[in-house]
Amino acid sequence: MKFFDVAIVGAGPAGLFAAYELAEHGIRDIAIVDAGKDVRYRVCPLISAHSSRELGVACAGCRPCGVLYGVGGAGLFSSGAINLHPQVGGDLAVLLKSYSRAEEMIKYLDSILRKFGVSDETLKLPNPELVKEWERRAAKAGAKLIAPSQRRLGTEESIEFTIKLADYLAINGVKILTETVASDIEPAGDRFKLPTNRGIIEAARVILAPGRSGAAWFSEISKKLGIQTAPGPLDIGVRLEVPDYVMEPLVSVIEDPKIIMYTKTYDDKVRTFCVNPRGFVVAERYNGYVAVNGMSYRELKSRNTNLALLVTVQLTDPLEDTIEYGRQIAMTATKLGGGKPLIQRLGDLVSGRRSTWSRIDRSSVEPTLKDVTPGDIGMALPYRVVTDVVEAVERLDDMLPGIASPQNLVYAPEIKFYSVRAVVDDWMQTNVKGLFVAGDGVGLSRGINGAAITGVLAARGVLKTL
Ligand SMILES: Cc1cc2nc3c(=O)[nH]c(=O)nc-3n(C[C@H](O)[C@H](O)[C@H](O)COP(=O)(O)OP(=O)(O)OC[C@H]3O[C@@H](n4cnc5c(N)ncnc54)[C@H](O)[C@@H]3O)c2cc1C
Repeated sequence: MKFFDVAIVGAGPAGLFAAYELAEHGIRDIAIVDAGKDVRYRVCPLISAHSSRELGVACAGCRPCGVLYGVGGAGLFSSGAINLHPQVGGDLAVLLKSYSRAEEMIKYLDSILRKFGVSDETLKLPNPELVKEWERRAAKAGAKLIAPSQRRLGTEESIEFTIKLADYLAINGVKILTETVASDIEPAGDRFKLPTNRGIIEAARVILAPGRSGAAWFSEISKKLGIQTAPGPLDIGVRLEVPDYVMEPLVSVIEDPKIIMYTKTYDDKVRTFCVNPRGFVVAERYNGYVAVNGMSYRELKSRNTNLALLVTVQLTDPLEDTIEYGRQIAMTATKLGGGKPLIQRLGDLVSGRRSTWSRIDRSSVEPTLKDVTPGDIGMALPYRVVTDVVEAVERLDDMLPGIASPQNLVYAPEIKFYSVRAVVDDWMQTNVKGLFVAGDGVGLSRGINGAAITGVLAARGVLKTL
């Protein structure tokens, strides 16, 4: 049995930034356990063998890969869009109870990115005059536009950054134990035991940062240990893929615009999420179902832009378990797709007709994700969600003509679980003393920025108690 001052579960942004903060303050006995592989051995289906070799990252052509697991976390093969805005990526201002504290943390995060060589050209600062014009157009569509400043690393620079950060941690004594799955946590006096598939680890403090892939596991642990949690929402919807020229006028001003609206039919919140100009739609495989997401690369470009349209669903009495509700929907969609995500032409979705490969082939938009099943998303997602999505696309067409073209493609399910939200103090400590949490899997963030910042805060909390 090995003893550490701090054990961190998860080597995504939350876990890595927590370890960085601890190492910077002289803590040396830190272990990070991660179920996935070292960043250099993670496999991405889309990075070309050429750029993989340059980066020293394994690439296996077009095989499905562990997108969600491993050092760098779920965002490693993403477009690496890091929002420098307190209200994007989870509401940090609310979590920290202070807008200025949230802004300070964003600046600190950015300083770490620059320290590890993230280039100046990744910084996207939207032009305020042009933003105002787009805000007017959004208002005309009955929507609100948020235009965050962003670092857009692209997958290649995200990988480079993660390699540098992980190497720095290793030099500073942090043990990153890969392919190591934490199965449980047992309080044992003034320390914790973490049984893993590679033996038991003991630590004085624990930071749980298991990401969305570990959200269900965290939910179980919280029930077992009596960690206080609050029910949270579920975001469910589709990923829309359109020709890049449809979104170009907007994304040339704001790289990753956030558009929020409330539907007339149900007064439900619908928001755009993760816009990938000239990017790719990807499949995320979870235990028991498959979902979709999007990403973009610095060099490799498609002719399409994809974005998520997500409806926020909040369940209350008697069913609060939105994870279970969302899982059931995702499993139904996966069953209908024969184990693959569903794809449909927008026009077919609107007219309630199943898409077939011959109809998809006639579309002017060529799908960037091919391992999909043409089907009827209206059979898979709740009627209310489909109605909200269709209304949102039609209203967005006032702002972005062509976005509601029947030729455009819709993939489903796109689903974001945030349901079990740990109740924490200002330093991310739970009601179980010595047990801290950070990141998406515990409901505290919704993006790389929020995950990294809650990781830093958890580390500062640990430092206060060690
Ligand atoms: C395809 C894709 C594109 C995305 N694009 C963006 C983007 O452009 N910008 C953005 O801000 N966000 C993006 N996101 C979301 C972003 O990746 C997450 O918000 C972020 O990674 C959350 O960080 P985290 O550290 O909380 O969790 P994760 O990054 O999910 O990391 C959690 C880690 O914990 C490990 N783990 C889980 N359970 C266990 C266990 N029991 N034992 C050991 N290890 C465990 C996993 O292997 C994983 O490596 C994207 C996500 C995906 C999937």
